[in-house]
This record gives sequence, structure tokens and C-alpha cells, in this order.
Amino acid sequence: MLTRREEITRLLDSATVPLTAQEICEILEIKKRSIVYDDIDHIARSVRNQGKEVVVKPASCGKCHYAFRVKGSVKAPTKCPKCKSEWILAPSFLIRDKK
Ligand SMILES: [Zn+2]
Repeated sequence: MLTRREEITRLLDSATVPLTAQEICEILEIKKRSIVYDDIDHIARSVRNQGKEVVVKPASCGKCHYAFRVKGSVKAPTKCPKCKSEWILAPSFLIRDKK
């Protein structure tokens, strides 16, 4: 029996395209996206010891295509700082071997 974090790690490790928190929720039947964002924060730290890294495709604005910075939290922003649109394309994640 894998823990939830192990399941997410395995999923992101075997994924061929980056997955959003929403997709991870649906595949693993997790109720809240905030749980996934929190788990990914932890996973990003733990896979480093295995020579891997969590690759983040940053969130972007659906309106002006402003790309949010990845630094710090992996959580999805709610509003575009540039055009104030709330149409935000969620960040997506993948685990890859570190080069
Ligand atoms: Zn925008």
C-alpha cells in the first residue's frame, strides 16, 4: 500500500506529459487540489535525494499569456498581475531525472 505522496510521485514519474493538480486529483481520487499542491511541495524536496526533480510548467494567464514565476510556492495564483484576468491556466508537473 503506497501513501498518497508515493502515489503522486509514481504518477508524475511515469507521466509522459505534465499533469495539473486537477488531473492528479481525478486520477488518484483526491478531494482537494490544495492537498496535491502541498504534497508536490514535499515531493519536490524528497526526489532531490534520488537524483530527480519536479519539473513545473508554470501557470499562465489565459488572456494575456503572462507566465507566472515558479519560485517558492507551486500553488496556482488566482489573478493575473498584468491584466487582472482571473482566467488562469493551472501549472502542471512532471518528475524527471536531474541532468
Ligand atoms: Zn493576464
